Amino acid sequence: DVTSFAVRVAPLGGTGLVLVLAEDQTERRRVEAVRRDFVANISHELKTPVGALSLLAETTADASDDPEAVRRFTERMQQEASRLTSVIQDLITLSRLQGAEPLAEPEDVDVEAVVEDAIDAVATAADSKEIELMASGTEGVVVPGDEGLLVTAMRNLVANAVAYSPERTRVSISAEVTENTVDLRVADQGIGIPQQDLERIFERFYRVDAARSRATGGTGLGLAIVKHIMTHHRGEVSVWSKEGSGSTFTLRLPRPETPERARSDANTYR
Ligand code: ADP
Repeated sequence: DVTSFAVRVAPLGGTGLVLVLAEDQTERRRVEAVRRDFVANISHELKTPVGALSLLAETTADASDDPEAVRRFTERMQQEASRLTSVIQDLITLSRLQGAEPLAEPEDVDVEAVVEDAIDAVATAADSKEIELMASGTEGVVVPGDEGLLVTAMRNLVANAVAYSPERTRVSISAEVTENTVDLRVADQGIGIPQQDLERIFERFYRVDAARSRATGGTGLGLAIVKHIMTHHRGEVSVWSKEGSGSTFTLRLPRPETPERARSDANTYR
């Protein structure tokens, strides 16, 4: 990127001096370009299923004397409609989170319940690929947060782990309580992510392989949502991955303040 400046010159009344303001436009242009891309992507992601739907409706009407064809087309219509619903739902979630203030009144969220919910949500997909889902270390672990949003984040990570893994592999979900954080990990033995894509996968609509993402029902928004949910919780998401061997995503959340901890801190400082 070439750095560009917007220069404004203002005479300082009666002094004979001029004020020169140079504003770096590079960042503003970048933000503007990202916004334009986002809008273009939204249009594309919405128009594609709508186009498919109208074509399928036409084809179905033409095939009215072939019940088997009608059944097939209707099924495809349902798939396209549900894809449209997913994109819209994800866009709504994302727009609610963008620019939201950090969570002011977090509740105590039971990590075990969050993980169970995520496992239930992907059970059918995992079963059909004989993927084993395992959870460990989650019992009794509590984090401060918004349960619904943490469920969404965990579901997105576990769904990706299943979607981007071959059959008969394992997805492990674990919780680790450290001194100041609670780390929730989702590790898979899947296709992995190329090094050069790693820092971009959290961008809206960024996909390593668009065809593959769509084939598994992905909207390209899942990780952007996870990232925003973490920011909203004053936490962060990180990823480790090796192409061909697997990926591990970590949600790092601040550890809740417990009476025990408050007491032990007090003891430390006495
Ligand atoms: P999508 O709906 O495409 O899965 P996400 O935002 O959830 O969108 O993920 C962005 C991209 O990151 C995916 O398209 C995929 O290329 C890559 N990705 C995410 N999770 C994994 C994973 N566990 N293993 C391999 N690739 C992944």
